[in-house]
Formats: sequence, structure tokens, C-alpha cells
Amino acid sequence: MIFAGNYFRCANRESVRVVSSAGRALFACGPMAGSETHDEGSNHAEQEPLTTDCRQVTGWICWRSQNHTGAAPMRVLSQLFANNRAWAEDMTRREPDFFARLAHQQTPQYLWIGCSDSRVPANQIVGLLPGEMFVHRNVANLVVHTDLNCLAALQFAGAVLRVHHVIVCGHYGCGGVLAALRDDNLGLIDNWLRHVQDVRSKHHSRLARLPREQQRHDRLCELNVIEQVANVCQTTIVREAWKRGHDLAVHGWIYSLSNGLLQDLGMCVTSDLEMSKCYEAACIRTNDD
Ligand SMILES: [Zn+2]
Repeated sequence: MIFAGNYFRCANRESVRVVSSAGRALFACGPMAGSETHDEGSNHAEQEPLTTDCRQVTGWICWRSQNHTGAAPMRVLSQLFANNRAWAEDMTRREPDFFARLAHQQTPQYLWIGCSDSRVPANQIVGLLPGEMFVHRNVANLVVHTDLNCLAALQFAGAVLRVHHVIVCGHYGCGGVLAALRDDNLGLIDNWLRHVQDVRSKHHSRLARLPREQQRHDRLCELNVIEQVANVCQTTIVREAWKRGHDLAVHGWIYSLSNGLLQDLGMCVTSDLEMSKCYEAACIRTNDD
């Protein structure tokens, strides 16, 4: 088979092959015979597409399927694909029907509303597998009353998946919270973080008595979680669920990047009636340390 013009110099220099769901090769990347420097096209017109191991030859190229419609060669993140294959194999070895079962249905008990921060991987830090927790993340784990994305996740989790626990989890060292605390000018995101600044303003006296910025940052991370729990409880979705007698608890937690441990902020609300009392108690508790 000859595919002149379908060869491209490979920047990654990793052996990888990408196939469609039907098993058709879309891209392949690997070493090939010839000079060390390859230009796309004619130099390789007589080479076979690299769909198999070619380690005995030198140089690296990517081969693109003639049937693929993309105009430019795909930049394959080969390490992530390799990691993915290893992970899928490991999961299958542990539990052969794992993916077949998950593909059929997900039955999570929890909705996690957390920060997008890459250091706070929701499932991992609570030891849950895919399928066991429904996750919504955004910068600074905010629940904004007009955020349809978050509200849709909340509604779907409650009404369709019938989760019984909503966990709002913040984390110490949150960059979004720090930017809000410092009034940093980061661009568009300042508008999103304005919600954290509203929390800062609301709790000005609690924050002002702390002498060090680190303390104020930690405290604002905690208060932000408490406020977001209150926001969850005040949505029409949760209020209606409680009204219908649906068992639903809303929790406020915070995660420490420095030791990997979660802490319960003592705000667990299970009904409309509990909300104010829980909120006040949790706010006062943040003064303790
Ligand atoms: Zn964060």
C-alpha cells in the first residue's frame, strides 16, 4: 500500500496508533527507514503505512489514513493514550465486567461540586470508582443561581440519578479564592470570581481580624464553601426535592493539598428548616482556630 502525501514528520517520537470505533486505523506514528530528517510526502511514498511495529528502522513519521478528512496531521498525546490503555487493562483485570456494567447504567450516590484545580481529583481523593460519583467542577467550586451548567448537573443528579448527598468541596490554597482575596486582575475570570469577592465582603469582619494573608486565604476558602452549600440549599431544585420528601443532604467539606485530607466544615443540611441554624453554626465554627 502506498499513501504518498500522507506522511508527516512526528514531533512526539512515540509509537502510537489511533483507531476509529470501527477498528479502522486513523493515525499511526512510529519509526521508519530513511534519513534522519523527513519531509512529508514524496520521500516516503514507497513506505508502508506504519500500522505495525517498525522498530528496526530509523526516523519517525506519522501516517494519516486516506479516509480521514482532517487537513493537518493530528498531534497525538501519545502518553495519555498509553496511560489510558494501561488503566483500562488494569480495571478489566480487576473486574472483567466493569466497563460492560458501567456502559449499561450509572448509579452514583453522590454529587460532587468541586474546584477545577488539577490537584483535587474528585473520585480519587474519596476512593471512589467511575460510576460512583457524579461530578461538577468549576473554578473556586461556586454555585451561582444563574449558572445553568451547575443547576443542570444538580437537577439531573437529584431528579434522574436520585443521589442522596450533594458535597460542596473547596480546598485550601485555592488560586481562584486567592485572586479574589487579593483583587487580582486576571481578565474575564474576574467576573466569575466576583462571587467569591461577595463572600469576602459579606464576611469582612471575620477576615479582617486575621493578621496574615495565609490565614485570611484559608478562612475565605472555608467561608466560600459554607456560602456555596447555602446556595445549593436555596435552589428551587433542592427546595422542591425536600418538599417532596426526597432524602437529600448537602455537605460542606474542605480538602488540604498539603496532606491530602478532607475536613468536614460541620455544615450538613438535610431540610429547609435546618438551613439557617447550620449556616450560622458553621460560620461561627470557622472562628475557632
Ligand atoms: Zn481551587
